[in-house]
Amino acid sequence: MDFPTTCPQCAHVNRAEFADSSVHDLRCARCGVRYCVLVRKQKFEVLFDLGTRALMDGYAREAVASFAAALERFFEFYVRAFALEQAAGREGSFENALAALEGTWRHVSSQSERQLGMFALAYLLREGREPDFLTPRGLGTDFRNRVIHRGALPTRAEVDAYAAGVFTLIDRLLTELGAGAAHAELVQEQAFAAHVRGLPDGVTVVFEEHPGMFRARRFGTLSPIPKPAKAQLQAAQSASGVNDARAFQQALFERALAERGSLLRGFKSSS
Ligand SMILES: [Zn+2]
Repeated sequence: MDFPTTCPQCAHVNRAEFADSSVHDLRCARCGVRYCVLVRKQKFEVLFDLGTRALMDGYAREAVASFAAALERFFEFYVRAFALEQAAGREGSFENALAALEGTWRHVSSQSERQLGMFALAYLLREGREPDFLTPRGLGTDFRNRVIHRGALPTRAEVDAYAAGVFTLIDRLLTELGAGAAHAELVQEQAFAAHVRGLPDGVTVVFEEHPGMFRARRFGTLSPIPKPAKAQLQAAQSASGVNDARAFQQALFERALAERGSLLRGFKSSS
C-alpha cells in the first residue's frame, strides 16, 4: 500500500510505500531534498485500512486476508498494551519491561494459536471476564479459512459481514483498553526517536497522523460513532435477514465507512 507525502521543501507530492517500521526515509523526486516521514499508525490499523481500500475497490477476496491479519495483529497490540501497562505500575524501567515482552513474544510469534492463548489470558486478567467472543463464530474463523486456505470466492455481502464483525470487535476492545493503548504506542514513539537521533543534519522530519477507520477511538480526532439509529438497524436487519448482533455490526461498520472511507482515497492498495 502506498500513500502520498508532501515534500517539506517544494511541496511536491511523492508517493511512499508503507514500511513495516512506519519509518520512511525519502528523497523528493523534484527538488532532491531528503526528508523522513514517520507515520503514527499501528500495524493492525494499516492492515484494516488496506482491507477497507481493497473492499472499496471491489477486491472482496483480497480484503479478507487483510482483515484477518488486522485482527491477529490487534490481539498482539492488546497483549503488548496490557503487558506494558502492568509493568508501568511496578518498579523497573520501560526498556527492561519491553525487552522482557519482546523475549516472551518470540515464544509465540510464529503460531497464531499461541498468540490467541496469550490474548485470552491478557483479557481475563485485565477485564476479569471470560473473552466470550473468542468463538469460531465470533471470529468468523470458518469463513476466513474457507477463503484464505481453500480458495473460496466470497460474495461481497459475506465480506462486508466479516469486515463488520472484525471492525466491531476491535472497536469494542480499543474502547475497553482506553488509555491503556498508549503504553503500546509509546514503543513506536521510542523507535521514532531513536531513528531521528541517527539521521544526518539537514533532513526534515515529518510526523503524520493518518486518517483511518480506528483513529476516532484512539485520538478523538474524528467524531466517535454513535450507536446506529433503530431505523437503520431495522433496515439492515430486514435487508439481510440476520440477527440483532449482526445488524448492529453492519450498521456500525457502514457508518464508519461512510464517515471515514473517503479519507482513505489517498491510499492505494497496489502500486
Ligand atoms: Zn521537493
